[in-house]
Amino acid sequence: MKRFCVGLLVTSGLLYAQQGWWMTEPIRWVQTNLRQTDAALNAKRLVDQLSEMRANVLLLGMGGIVAYYPTKTEFHYPSPQLPQGRDMFGDVLKAAHEHHIRVVGRFDFSKTQREVFDAHPEWFFRQANGLAVIYNGLYSTCINGGYYRQTAVKILSEALEKYEVDGLFFNAFGNQSRDYSGRELGLCHCDVCKARYRQMFHKDIPDKPDDDYRKFMFVSSREVAATFGDLIHAKRPRAGYFNYVQESTGGIMSESNIAVDRPLPLWPYSASDNVNRARNSEPGKMSINLCMQFVDMAWRFATVPSQEIALRLWQNIANSGALTFEVNGTLDLQDRQALEAAKPIFRWTAANEQYYVRQESDARVLLLGASPQTGRVYSAEPYRGIFRLLSEEHIPFAVSDNMNWLGKRKFDLVIATDWAPAELKQYAESGGRVLLVSPQAPDFSLVPAYKKWSGLKGYIRVRDHSMFPSLKDTDLLMLDGSFTEVQTDAPAPLTLVPQSMFGPPELVHIDMTDTATPGIVFRQIGRGSIAWIPWNLGGLYYPSESACACRAIS
Ligand SMILES: [Zn+2]
Repeated sequence: MKRFCVGLLVTSGLLYAQQGWWMTEPIRWVQTNLRQTDAALNAKRLVDQLSEMRANVLLLGMGGIVAYYPTKTEFHYPSPQLPQGRDMFGDVLKAAHEHHIRVVGRFDFSKTQREVFDAHPEWFFRQANGLAVIYNGLYSTCINGGYYRQTAVKILSEALEKYEVDGLFFNAFGNQSRDYSGRELGLCHCDVCKARYRQMFHKDIPDKPDDDYRKFMFVSSREVAATFGDLIHAKRPRAGYFNYVQESTGGIMSESNIAVDRPLPLWPYSASDNVNRARNSEPGKMSINLCMQFVDMAWRFATVPSQEIALRLWQNIANSGALTFEVNGTLDLQDRQALEAAKPIFRWTAANEQYYVRQESDARVLLLGASPQTGRVYSAEPYRGIFRLLSEEHIPFAVSDNMNWLGKRKFDLVIATDWAPAELKQYAESGGRVLLVSPQAPDFSLVPAYKKWSGLKGYIRVRDHSMFPSLKDTDLLMLDGSFTEVQTDAPAPLTLVPQSMFGPPELVHIDMTDTATPGIVFRQIGRGSIAWIPWNLGGLYYPSESACACRAIS
């Protein structure tokens, strides 16, 4: 499990001259997802615990669902457990700063009290049947409603004016389509959403999210993200803005977590994936990939195995992201295994912190990832398969979810594992080399495709071993899934062997036939070249649960 790719990392002083502390300092970040009952916590004890493990950034509950300081803003409520006259957030901020620990305040505006709902029912998420969403007594707000658009701005203004925070972070940003118990809520049908959606797309909100709806939510959440970002920059110019979105932020948040009902297999490169993608898609921003220590929502106090914690932490920093660790409540934990796994890694990176700052990837291979801007769905399996293959072959690579690198950064090879954007043709024409590994034809004309097979359980025959030296001991490769037949004008070094009989053993493949149908095609395009493997090779390295179901007969 320790075999993951360490990208080549170089330092650059000039790039960071104008950037905030999150880009110019090594980050060892501890997130405390406080409960409202932690509002009376001992500030000195928490800061001593952080110092002892050499954390230098604390993400601390500040406000939103409950405030951890005496707030005077309408529709914002201090925790019921915040003692009269006590300013817990202020106490921790002061103690942390005295120990050179930065503090990022955590807000969650996705839910609030019934009192707000009674006063402004129009600010809240409405299911298709018109009902509000109530979870453990809290009412879900809508990203397009007045709570997010006006009240949150007032709350944040008070917080930013009152406290010298080093940054702010926002949980549950954008309308969640399911609650913590996994109950599907559908899409928000509040009056504001309905009117805005109609204005944008001239139709009603769909039952399930489609490309248009994803664009709608993208625009809605990014509007609020920009408002919050502008406010932070205006009130605290040196403070960082951290959110799960890439736009308007200084730090891109993500999570490495597991859930008991999530389909297998586990994704062991979760942290590498999140950090590599964030740092290379937006090289001017830091990646804060949170290591969620708990097993699943219902077991917030039970941790995943120590080895999983260590794997995530090392992957975070190997890919030039922040070192992070997250807990629910304070650091006085009932299951201390995850924390004890994190501590030596924090201390070791503190002792060697000169190597964990101002890093950027110098990889020469680019892997294209999903593009949130387009709202286009991207297949995870082939992407993860190639991600795994590159990692385990120790080939440094960068992941980008956009094409902004064009003209700015040079690569020896660009790999697309699902749909290939039209810009890749232009890239090849100007001398680039591209590898498409997908049964899906690219978004540009390459070679005529005339038939697509699906669910094929056949083979690929290796006809030219000189081109594939690593395949010297086999003439056949496994083929599982879709295959696109394309026209070719030359003998192909890999060809299709269609499905044939596989049982009983007496009949295995006795009807096997060979074809000249290419399993790979090459095209010179301008000064560059494109190789297209028109089948799901990547998926073989990360098969979905259904594809790897075992059979008991032979
Ligand atoms: Zn709404």
